[in-house]
Amino acid sequence: MSRPQLIPLHNASWQHQLRDAIRSREALADALQLDVHELPFSDQATAQFPLLIPHAFAARMRRGDPDDPLLRQVLAAPQETTDVDGFNRDPVGEVEQFRDDAGIVRKYQGRALLVVTGQCAINCRYCFRRHYPYADDARSSSERLADLDRLLREDDLCEILLSGGDPLLLSDNHLGSIAKRIAARGDVTLRIHTRLPIAIPDRVTESLVSALTGRVVMVVHANHDAEIDAATRSALTRLRDAGVTLLNQSVLLAGVNDDAQVLASLSDRLFEAGVLPYYLHLLDPVAGAAHFLVDDTTARRIVGQLAERRPGYLVPRLVREVPGAGSKRELAPLYNA
Ligand code: SF4
Repeated sequence: MSRPQLIPLHNASWQHQLRDAIRSREALADALQLDVHELPFSDQATAQFPLLIPHAFAARMRRGDPDDPLLRQVLAAPQETTDVDGFNRDPVGEVEQFRDDAGIVRKYQGRALLVVTGQCAINCRYCFRRHYPYADDARSSSERLADLDRLLREDDLCEILLSGGDPLLLSDNHLGSIAKRIAARGDVTLRIHTRLPIAIPDRVTESLVSALTGRVVMVVHANHDAEIDAATRSALTRLRDAGVTLLNQSVLLAGVNDDAQVLASLSDRLFEAGVLPYYLHLLDPVAGAAHFLVDDTTARRIVGQLAERRPGYLVPRLVREVPGAGSKRELAPLYNA
């Protein structure tokens, strides 16, 4: 089955695209030209974690294919409702162990992570924060800037991370205020973790790009080469041309990208767009996502095969998040000979 040509999105603003995103089984089946009963779908799963797919992302899925790898990432599947031993609601321990009253997560030395919103532009079913208590961390813009000012007075600080949810759902003005404050200190990097340039490439407006002053690293999140279409490439190129350092993190997902050739193509597409593949995460054991698990040996073998097909800078580091560890734990590739 071939992928569709890019469907024009009526030149809608990114905010309108978000408002009009797919939120029901019927709308999804309609967009993919599938009979509603062909979609393996669970109302219970979407009640726990809502279905949310922007049309710009759905446009990159194959029509008529219920097994499409992009669809699999966002489809509220019946397997999500089965309890599996070892899979829980706080898989990396950040809610219980590392978060303060302002929702600031301090896992690693010199770095502070601000969970700035609980909203995303797309709900990825494997997300390790799918059960995160975002409502507990709700902060007004002025409270958040006060939190940031407090952090920026610390000596041992090299990086402020904005995460969520998706930080690019904040207004350009607010993001600009954050970036300016960090840039004024001079020795701290602003890192933004976001899937919006992939989910809705039109989010990368001129106004956003000019708001991102100072030393900025953006870590985007794509898992499959089909996610990088012409609009995505153009959005990423706009960021790169403005001096933003671009990295990608993927999650290794069964039935999506557990294949060295798929990962090699993803690295190629990212590199064409000026993005280096940075991390390939093993799945965090979050409740509802066990059907995406790839075991360690298979994962290491896939990365070994990838390393034999691409230069080192196109081979992401295979990592696992270990609650309480001072950094991510890297797993070595496994080679055939
Ligand atoms: S965009 Fe990121 S934070 Fe949001 S659901 Fe997907 S993986 Fe989770």
